[in-house]
Amino acid sequence: MLSEEDFRRLLAAGDIARRIKRELGKIAKPGARVRDIAEAIEARIRDLGGSPAFPVNISIGSTAAHYTPTVSDNSVLPESGLVKIDFGVHIDGMIVDTAYTVDLDDTYRVLVEAAREALDRALSIVKPGVALREVGKVVQQVARKYEVKPIRNLSGHRIDRYNLHAGESVPNYNDLLTPWRFKDNSIYAIEPFMTTGAGMVSEDKTVTIYALKSGKLKGLRSSEIEVVKHIISEYKTLPFCERWLSNRFRDAGKILDSLYRRKFLRGYPVLTEVSGSPVSQAEDTVVIYGGEVHIVTR
Ligand code: MN
Ligand code: MN
Repeated sequence: MLSEEDFRRLLAAGDIARRIKRELGKIAKPGARVRDIAEAIEARIRDLGGSPAFPVNISIGSTAAHYTPTVSDNSVLPESGLVKIDFGVHIDGMIVDTAYTVDLDDTYRVLVEAAREALDRALSIVKPGVALREVGKVVQQVARKYEVKPIRNLSGHRIDRYNLHAGESVPNYNDLLTPWRFKDNSIYAIEPFMTTGAGMVSEDKTVTIYALKSGKLKGLRSSEIEVVKHIISEYKTLPFCERWLSNRFRDAGKILDSLYRRKFLRGYPVLTEVSGSPVSQAEDTVVIYGGEVHIVTR
């Protein structure tokens, strides 16, 4: 159930997201340092009175999601290809999630348009009672029209307070096993991904984004307890990354790696299209409040 105050927080978080897309929409260009882009967006979120809901994801080419630059990543955007910029803003745990694709040299316009049109059409059918898989149907129709494929094992998601993926997925194909319907007083991220490849992603070995599995401190070393306590107070169950800890904790990268290997942390492995083909994405957050549909990130 969303209170009026929660709804106001969502509108305010959405305003921050929209403003950042407007202000920083052109920051992703060939030669720009990936880490600088992530840090600029995260800093602006904080300046405007929000908090990043997760580390800014910057996914290039056939990488679809879940890469955030590490402290030592000095790489720059290539001359060509697709870059997905995916970021979230929260105010007191009320989260909005949005993403767009930049076509660095205009060679994949079809993919960018397909994701965008699929999102537009999906957003236009949202109302309480509509089956979430109707979104998948629409995404599939648009993909067919553009002769591309949606990525079937990536989906949108319902959002709850401090919970980015609150259990119910919004599929990007007509998934007959998706039983849920849009409900009043709920928050949903809708995010079609399109590719010229096979339409599936798999997990890479690389992990740059983490979240706490529990608040338990048992079994941790003293240096780790400090880190985990800081994570609990700053990020709770929301995702975070090495960059956010490295100013305060000198060995943040090593500590996170060790906590992840010992299963104290959940990791979000980088997701890459299985056939190595380019991927586009478009994402907005809709809030259904008092029976009305609000696209808060547009
Ligand atoms: Mn997102
Ligand atoms: Mn999302």
